[in-house]
Amino acid sequence: MDKSFNAFEMAQTQFDAVADKLNLNEAARELLRNPMREYHFNIPIKMDDGSSKVFRGYRIQHNDALGPCKGGIRFHPQETADTVRALSMWMTWKTSVLDIPLGGGKGGVICDPHNLSLREQEQICRGWVRQLGRNIGPLRDIPAPDVMTNGQHMLWMLDEYETITGEKYPGMITGKPVGMGGSLGRTEATGYGVIFTVREALKEIGINTGHTTASFQGFGNVAQYAIKLYNQLGGTVLCVSCWDQQDQVSYAFYKKEGINVEELRKITDRFGGIDKEKAKELGYEMLPGDKWLEIECDILIPSALENQITAENVEKISSQVKLIAEGANGPTTPEADKILQQRGIFIIPDFLCNAGGVTCSYFEQVQCNMNYFWSKDEVLGKLDYKLTTAYHKVSKLAREKKLYMRDAAYMISIDKVVQASTARGWI
Ligand code: GLU
Repeated sequence: MDKSFNAFEMAQTQFDAVADKLNLNEAARELLRNPMREYHFNIPIKMDDGSSKVFRGYRIQHNDALGPCKGGIRFHPQETADTVRALSMWMTWKTSVLDIPLGGGKGGVICDPHNLSLREQEQICRGWVRQLGRNIGPLRDIPAPDVMTNGQHMLWMLDEYETITGEKYPGMITGKPVGMGGSLGRTEATGYGVIFTVREALKEIGINTGHTTASFQGFGNVAQYAIKLYNQLGGTVLCVSCWDQQDQVSYAFYKKEGINVEELRKITDRFGGIDKEKAKELGYEMLPGDKWLEIECDILIPSALENQITAENVEKISSQVKLIAEGANGPTTPEADKILQQRGIFIIPDFLCNAGGVTCSYFEQVQCNMNYFWSKDEVLGKLDYKLTTAYHKVSKLAREKKLYMRDAAYMISIDKVVQASTARGWI
């Protein structure tokens, strides 16, 4: 990862530009360009070999004017307080643009689950909750899975919370396993949500999804389900790229007739890493570096981490690309964004495009509160409705005011949080 890149500065730059457009007063800017509350703490655990190790954990609550804070927890070796700050801010905009009664927060632990046993990961999850027990909860701040965390991690966290409080609080965390307070459709939700917005964008651009090709960065939870639905709509994925833990570089797995998501899933580890040898045997061409973005195709879907489409590589994007759908949080830097805008590439901004996960998390909470669980069709139907409605609200404003899609989405979400904060008498 580029050390000079700072996700929080990027989030603030994006915010400042929209704050100018919305003519926000000083108090509103002060309130929203920094998180409301931050928790930084140590998580000491006993490793399997008997040694003790201390991990650094974070929870950052950006804004809760619209409701309790909401957002995932990432386990990543390069996690920083500033990355979590940025992600917490993006969560505020995400819940706001989706019209969900929740605020924005994010958590993280500096660790690499590739090198941790399940028992050690469980200790980190429980330690994270022990440090934060009083500051999270169904009416305060509700965590969820994110990069390198999953339903099992959420269940350990819930169990620790319920052990501390002595009561059952299924709405304290989302992304739980189905049957343990989780919602059907939650695993698919982020990836499917990406494609719901892609489907609507292609309709507006006037292109038949069935005639399109795409290239994905990442082959984790988001990309796998996005590809599945995109294939069902008739689209062809030419390339997926993923991080190779062994070589510490990324490879793009390319097949000109289209990749087969099911065959690739069979040779993929739980972090989205594809087995190179087996992929070669299946006839995939492997291209090192960020070649996924140079593929001649119609749609690029970055679904990995922040800071991937940058001033250095943006020019390499093929002239055939018409649409970029941001499955990841913060994949495009502001410098690259300007160039994409000049080139007239249509963007579905991250906090709209990948909002399917948090939307389904909200449904999970609602179901937990009623203690009555919906069918998968019902969940996915409601998800489609929410994403499609939000997409059209943003694209309508973009068309009417001739705005870049990212700016339109920002204007809607920031305005809503400002109004809620004003109505509460904060600013
Ligand atoms: N981690 C996901 C995100 O970035 C989901 C958050 C949630 O479900 O609360 O949107």
